[in-house]
Amino acid sequence: MPSHNESHDEKKSELQRAGLKVTGPRVRLLQYLEEAARDNRHLSADDIYLALQQAGEDIGLATVYRVLTQFEAAGLVMRHNFEGGHAVFELSTDDHHDHMVCIETGAVIEFHDSAIEKRQHEIAAEHGYELVDHSLVLHVRPLGKKKPKA
Ligand SMILES: [Zn+2]
Repeated sequence: MPSHNESHDEKKSELQRAGLKVTGPRVRLLQYLEEAARDNRHLSADDIYLALQQAGEDIGLATVYRVLTQFEAAGLVMRHNFEGGHAVFELSTDDHHDHMVCIETGAVIEFHDSAIEKRQHEIAAEHGYELVDHSLVLHVRPLGKKKPKA
């Protein structure tokens, strides 16, 4: 297990590489996002705030929002505004993935489909464009739970 200091130093250089000054809240928030990513990669600002409070950190909700916005601008995290819920944040990854969101539970599921990826480039090209980015969100509900027509 890495010592607190090693991990702390790692976070410091990550922040510096992203062009951000090293502050206590930034280091703690980045650490938390990486710890949390093992269980749930998609967290709201409230989730993060409450978890930090429970860990005894004195970081206010406004600071959490501010640091997340700074992380987003620096490319460290991505913000997703999933419909019907508040924004969730996740650490940026090199691997592109898309999301589906369960309309009943709010669960966020990641997926990657090379046929969809390829097709999007083709469609953009058919319209005379080059695809530079995209975000695809499927709204889903558990199978067998189709609502009867009223
Ligand atoms: Zn994701």
